Amino acid sequence: MCVVSDITERKIAEHHLAERSHELEILNQELSKAVEALAASNAELVAARQELEHLAQHDNLTGIWNRRRVEEAAQQEMLRKARYGHPVSMLFIDLDHFKRVNDTHGHAVGDDVLKAFCDIASKCMRSTDMLGRWGGEEFVILMPNSGLMIASLLAERIRKATLTYAFPVAGHITVSIGVAECRDDEAWEAWLCRSDAALYAAKEAGRNRVISDAVGSKETDEAELLDLDFLRLVWRSTYESGHSLLDKQHQNLFEHANALLTSVLSERPKDEVLPQIEALVADLLDHFRDEEAVFRSIGYSGADEHAQTHQGLIDRAGELVAIFTSGELALGDLFNFLAYDVVAKHMLSEDRKFFGHIQAVRDTAV
Ligand code: GH3
Ligand code: MG
Ligand code: MG
Repeated sequence: MCVVSDITERKIAEHHLAERSHELEILNQELSKAVEALAASNAELVAARQELEHLAQHDNLTGIWNRRRVEEAAQQEMLRKARYGHPVSMLFIDLDHFKRVNDTHGHAVGDDVLKAFCDIASKCMRSTDMLGRWGGEEFVILMPNSGLMIASLLAERIRKATLTYAFPVAGHITVSIGVAECRDDEAWEAWLCRSDAALYAAKEAGRNRVISDAVGSKETDEAELLDLDFLRLVWRSTYESGHSLLDKQHQNLFEHANALLTSVLSERPKDEVLPQIEALVADLLDHFRDEEAVFRSIGYSGADEHAQTHQGLIDRAGELVAIFTSGELALGDLFNFLAYDVVAKHMLSEDRKFFGHIQAVRDTAV
């Protein structure tokens, strides 16, 4: 028995299918290639856009931020200040007699000086500070979480580092720096204008110096408190009350402030700084307790009010330490609180109100 079946059509269909499959395979390969090419040109576009963005934000010569980027960052920092109360300061820096460098050695040497200055400034700055070229031989540094004192100290560090650096060919060059801390509700232009005015004052005063716009620190002159040469707070005999225990404690708090300042400037890690802060707060509590006992014993009429001020400072210290511990507060803020609110505003101005009483009591005793 024999079965004969015509499979021609099936064979033709199979053949068509194989051909179609082959075509699809080729199409698929082409598509893959097209996708690859698209991905490559997309990457090129992304790179080109990044390059454009970089160019729009950076200075060609030095590679640091340009004026536009500085202004953007300043606006962001001012918002942070308004929202969270973090202080922010600005340094306005101008190279002294820079025209002479160009005139004497040529423009290319001048360009090298500008680049070298950026390196010097960057080395002095903390990781969160932002350097930008304002134009020509003018630079701006934005310093988040820094009040006037810290900003002035860092400005001084930059001034000294520049002064001592031997620029290849150009030799020694100095800078003048104006410092201003942004005030509450201040407009960018007004803040900039104050730092520029401080810079102008530094030029007028003979160049190679730092001048801080101290408006806002009415109670005690911060300039008097700071020894910029040694980057520390200095104790002066005029700060003495005549009561040996209180004076010893006040001096001890100065030392705490200076130790903290060293940690701020050298950016010590948090776990290293915390014991330092704990010791400081403990001494502050002891001191306030002893001081209250002293002014009650001499019958000081402002005793209750003064004790309330102490409580306010202790509460604030506690808050700041907690925020610092949780990592949301910069060490600079803690230093500002201690140096400015506790030392400058409280110790050197509030406390002075009862110094007179201590002296009067001693005079009657004698
Ligand atoms: P002062 O101490 O008063 O600031 O004096 P100065 O000579 O530094 O100030 P002045 O503003 O008169 O001169 C600034 C000079 O900076 C003039 C300009 O030719 C030069 N300058 C600006 N931009 C550049 C630059 O990109 N490269 C070089 N080499 N020089 C520049
Ligand atoms: Mg200039
Ligand atoms: Mg200049």
